[in-house]
Amino acid sequence: MNKIFTIIFLFFLLISCSVSKGAKLNEDAVKIKFASRIIKSELDTKLYILASDVFEGRRTGEKGQKLAASYIADFYNHIGVDPPIGYDNYFQEIPQEFFKGHSKSSSENIVAYIPGSEFREEIVVISSHYDHLGKKGDVIYYGADDDASGTTAVMVIAEAFQRARKAGYGPRRSILFLNFTGEEQGLFGSKYYASHPIFPLSNTVVNLNIDMIGRVDEKNKDHPEYIYLIGADKLSKQLHKLSESTNKKYTKLTLDYTFNDDKDPNRYYYRSDHYNFAKNNIPVIFYFNGVHKDYHKFTDTADKINYDLLAKRTRLIFYTAWEIANRDERLVLDKN
Ligand SMILES: [Zn+2]
Repeated sequence: MNKIFTIIFLFFLLISCSVSKGAKLNEDAVKIKFASRIIKSELDTKLYILASDVFEGRRTGEKGQKLAASYIADFYNHIGVDPPIGYDNYFQEIPQEFFKGHSKSSSENIVAYIPGSEFREEIVVISSHYDHLGKKGDVIYYGADDDASGTTAVMVIAEAFQRARKAGYGPRRSILFLNFTGEEQGLFGSKYYASHPIFPLSNTVVNLNIDMIGRVDEKNKDHPEYIYLIGADKLSKQLHKLSESTNKKYTKLTLDYTFNDDKDPNRYYYRSDHYNFAKNNIPVIFYFNGVHKDYHKFTDTADKINYDLLAKRTRLIFYTAWEIANRDERLVLDKN
């Protein structure tokens, strides 16, 4: 008798193990399926449009920036990602005075939103700035890497989350896709958002900010599969660990923390839009490829982007956002 019970017990143990293993594989398979559609051909057409002559370098408050804003908003509308509830369009209007003489007119951040299925009030922010330097005389500063690359990444990540949602795998937390204006003139768009948040900052779980991820800098020219990460461990060690383990499992890029060092003279932690979240105690990761010879020059053009690498870095950010949006517990801030 005893032996029979043991056999029955082992049998059920075996079944329960294989079921839980199967369920886990399934969740991974889902993530991988939607990440795998983030490829070169999804990115290059959008980037070439954002960095085209038509948008005239996307200077804040000028015609090119407005046209770029419409293009990005039309895209969100086309894929079925709505503005936040209560907003009848994708534009967070910022009055001209806010730019302190750096804009000819009012300008706008772009906001698109996927509601969470379970922890709707908790918000994951994925951002980039879509403005650039405009024109000097007749010369257009295209800003292909800075930051059409990050903006394209945010758009494609929104599409990946939306595809998953349509297939029944919507995120448990809400995701806000934010494209900032006025970054080049002094982080105005993110400053405005942080002082006029659409969702309470206390419920904002993280900001994954992307500014320049389509190129390779001089230091890494022989090992291009890298990305600089800045800020990940500053407010939440849990975020840093999650980011590391996600990359190790799915994307296997070299995560370079050179610019995360507090003693680094570049002080990038304070120099892009994520800082307006970090200073409000919201954990951030800033994704960045480092500067290169075309940085802030009219030669920062779409033909110089490494699109396969851009796709791979975008997949890393998608996977990281997925983990944060779907984990059981909200990311925990360090106590200090
Ligand atoms: Zn930038």
